[in-house]
Amino acid sequence: MSANSTLQSLLALAPDEAAALRAPGAPPLSFGRLRTLVEETVVTLNGLGVGRGDRVAIVLPNGPEMAAAFIAIAQGATAAPLNPAYKLDEFEFYMQDLRAKALVVEAGSLSPAIEAARKLGLLVLTLTPRAGGAGDFALSGASRARADAPGFAAPEDIALILHTSGTTSRPKIVPLSQRSLAASAQNVARTLELSPADRALNVMPLFHIHGLVAGLLAPLSRGGSIFCAPGFNALKFFAWMEEAEPTWYTAVPTMHQAILTRVAKQREVIAQHPLRFIRSSSASLPPQVIAELEATFHAPVVEAYGMTEAAHQMACNPLHGVRKPGSVGPAAGPEIEIMDMAGGILAPGVVGEIVIRGENVFGGYENNPKANAEAFANGWFRTGDQGVKDADGYVRLTGRLKEIINRGGEKISPREVDEALMDHPAVQQVVAFAMPHERLGEDVAAAVVLREGASVTEGDLRAFLAERLAAFKVPRKILFLREIPKGATGKLQRIGLAEKLGLAG
Ligand code: ATP
Ligand code: MG
Repeated sequence: MSANSTLQSLLALAPDEAAALRAPGAPPLSFGRLRTLVEETVVTLNGLGVGRGDRVAIVLPNGPEMAAAFIAIAQGATAAPLNPAYKLDEFEFYMQDLRAKALVVEAGSLSPAIEAARKLGLLVLTLTPRAGGAGDFALSGASRARADAPGFAAPEDIALILHTSGTTSRPKIVPLSQRSLAASAQNVARTLELSPADRALNVMPLFHIHGLVAGLLAPLSRGGSIFCAPGFNALKFFAWMEEAEPTWYTAVPTMHQAILTRVAKQREVIAQHPLRFIRSSSASLPPQVIAELEATFHAPVVEAYGMTEAAHQMACNPLHGVRKPGSVGPAAGPEIEIMDMAGGILAPGVVGEIVIRGENVFGGYENNPKANAEAFANGWFRTGDQGVKDADGYVRLTGRLKEIINRGGEKISPREVDEALMDHPAVQQVVAFAMPHERLGEDVAAAVVLREGASVTEGDLRAFLAERLAAFKVPRKILFLREIPKGATGKLQRIGLAEKLGLAG
């Protein structure tokens, strides 16, 4: 059991005067002020009738107030951050689905979340920025009776509720306890050897586990600071680097790729602001991108494997020691095994389903007995990801079980097709996926984004692949796109892509 099993204890270590949150053009918010802000917010929430176990939907733009509000609300109630881009119907669905009691928005916000909250009878609380430093705020609302369970949350209280990204099915509700979040933050901090001297640059959305744990809680747990960017923007990235002087950042592969398209004019900024390392997670990072990032930033790139149900990190390549491109590294937090269909643990080198267990892993989906029955086996959580461990314990993901393309009974991992296409010098980004086929059921298709100035035909790519893959794995159709459609968390989505791209029958 870890010593710090609540967010409150996790954030208690840094000296009062150390910087906690930073933001463009703002003075930093100190750890001392952040701790006071958390105490004030818990008291305010309690006075408004919101206490431990009550769910508070948070709809705020990415930035320091969102970071501070999450940190505070998660300690006196249950934080449920929602994507501010949702439309009225989506807000209504999510608020109802997660049984929210209150909504927090910025003063003056025009978000449809407010209308959704009114329709559902939620308490609407407004956040007003204050001058105490980046993210400082005051919370207000029409007062109510006292909260049923006032005070700070205990280790087993649910601190955060998120929905999964919905890449493979309808998003599922994942409740995460204080203990899981604190354990996961410490796992990330340990892997990255974070210290009070580190300055993180957070570009990840704070309504997703990657940003909340790796971007925010992990650095705070070691007394480091976070420069909270207002969301990802490849054009502004280098200006933030100049202002924030970060020692590292974490992002999803599509963001790293977008940053790489902008580096030509930024050599000086990169040379003047050396990074200690770059972290990538949430989707597979092609080895070619690792090589390009390392050559550009002269810093090691560590790829981690994470998921909402694990409060983010499960495995990570080491900062010091052997990093294996194409692998997500050894277990970095929970235990990891590879399991067969019958629940047996498989030997190194054998492909099966990745299963995990550990303090950071959630206890089960909410209101979803069917998903829970499928997901837990002999105390292990089945991730739905397919992979293999090598003799050193490094995990290699081979695909998601639900995304495997079934071509007339022949199972094809779209990831293998991605990897072969990424080897072509003209290809910048690729996503292979299943398209419906009259006779075979499914066949392989791929969407490709070419590098700037590159030109190549579908025939060229198919010929290139024919030398690398068995004929049945070569996509029947390759589409050239300017951009590949992504989910809200920046992931390429294979499932449903055939319909989106007009290839579905
Ligand atoms: P849903 O569960 O609703 O289909 P989702 O699985 O995409 O959505 P998340 O919890 O955000 O929702 O994502 C976790 C998944 O992301 C993992 O199960 C894995 O498939 C993928 N993933 C995470 N890190 C990596 C990585 N480094 N390489 C490849 N895939 C990764
Ligand atoms: Mg999932």
